[in-house]
Amino acid sequence: TRNPIDEVRNVVMDLEMQNYWMPFTANRSFKTAPRLITSAAGVHLIDPDGRRILDGSSGLFCVPAGHCRPEIAKAVSEQLRKLDYTSPFQFSHPGGFRLAEKIASLTPPGLDRIFFANSGSESVDTAMKMALAYHRANGQPSRQRFVSRELAYHGVNFGGLSCGGMVKNREGFGTLLPGVVHMRHTQSQKGTFTRGQADAGHDLADDLQRAVDLHGAESIAAVIVEPVVGSVGILVPPKGYLQRLRQIASQHGILLIFDEVITGFGRTGNRFAAQTFDVQPDLITMAKALTNGAMPMGAVAAGTHIYDTIASAAPENGIEFFHGYTYSAHPVATAAALATIEIFETDGLFEQAADLIGPFQEAVYSLQELPLVTDIRSFGLLAGIDLATAERFGQRGFAALRKLFEAGLMVRVTNDTIILAPPFVMTPTQIEQMVSIVKDVVTRL
Ligand code: PLP
Repeated sequence: TRNPIDEVRNVVMDLEMQNYWMPFTANRSFKTAPRLITSAAGVHLIDPDGRRILDGSSGLFCVPAGHCRPEIAKAVSEQLRKLDYTSPFQFSHPGGFRLAEKIASLTPPGLDRIFFANSGSESVDTAMKMALAYHRANGQPSRQRFVSRELAYHGVNFGGLSCGGMVKNREGFGTLLPGVVHMRHTQSQKGTFTRGQADAGHDLADDLQRAVDLHGAESIAAVIVEPVVGSVGILVPPKGYLQRLRQIASQHGILLIFDEVITGFGRTGNRFAAQTFDVQPDLITMAKALTNGAMPMGAVAAGTHIYDTIASAAPENGIEFFHGYTYSAHPVATAAALATIEIFETDGLFEQAADLIGPFQEAVYSLQELPLVTDIRSFGLLAGIDLATAERFGQRGFAALRKLFEAGLMVRVTNDTIILAPPFVMTPTQIEQMVSIVKDVVTRL
């Protein structure tokens, strides 16, 4: 009889490794000891040896409903047989409209015009272009600057990269977009193990006012922030910070963009972080959990005022916004997203996520006792656990990533920070198990 595990292993052993240039990966190191996944189910990933690895980061924050959901597989497969593709320019298919309506029912009221992209990076660049188009249509074409923040991650395309604030992502790629102003990041106190939001965020948010005072409001199109910063290691906004940004932005006619590529779809305990923090942005970007990771898709939810202003400036029967992608509202990605949102609603996943936050944070903060752990920040189902830097920045983090994987846990690591972002379908027991693997591995590092 054939052993399925041996079959997988043989295929993997025959792999030629040199052609695939892997993204954000230490390629040479990886290829000497590949970490391969060949299947997945629920909250587990499975390697070629049949070993089950707990998915502590929901893939890359994108699989909240657990892996290989049959509902999504069915929807995708049916869609592929029925309509694989049709042009989204001047034509469409019903799914795009259905999905836009569905998304608009989840976003805060008023943020109900949905534009489709294929990734977070594309969603960010789309939102930036909407901001520029809005001001131009509104008779203020001089508003071309963006205000963003140090330590931000807004993807890797030139717009989002220019607004991003992680040095390694930026330094090799030239001068980027001119006219982006960076506010200070909000990680002001390391090692405080603050639970939830720190006090006093007004001062940091006043950086937006300083940008206005220096550059003039009439030169600024939008301010873009992640409500909770994800990729750099979970930075929680101090109390009042986002509210103050909203206030200053409104006062000066500046649009507020929330990049919710990570925080969207339940991760902070509500559908969107805009609802969690009760702050109404003008534009929200989303991606990742939108399809439960099963198909690439991103979207921007734009305020009705944004759409109306842009549309009314165009001639009747004229194209309003010269932007879009071959795969905007791709029928198959659309089917995956519709199936995903249905799972969220029928399984009560938004509520399940909210209920899991307490046990998750309780478990995560128990890591505080480990000597190597220098800070923990957590909000919703997100946690960043800083490890003391060894000789070289990032060295200990990379060691942790490899050792955790060997011990049966996949996490996301940035520099020396372990990021946990469990699927919403993890049980409290599995949360305990995840954190105890971190505890064992970090103790032995
Ligand atoms: N924006 C934020 C806040 C993100 O966290 C990410 C990815 O992690 C992106 C944008 C880019 O998304 P993508 O990798 O899908 O282009």
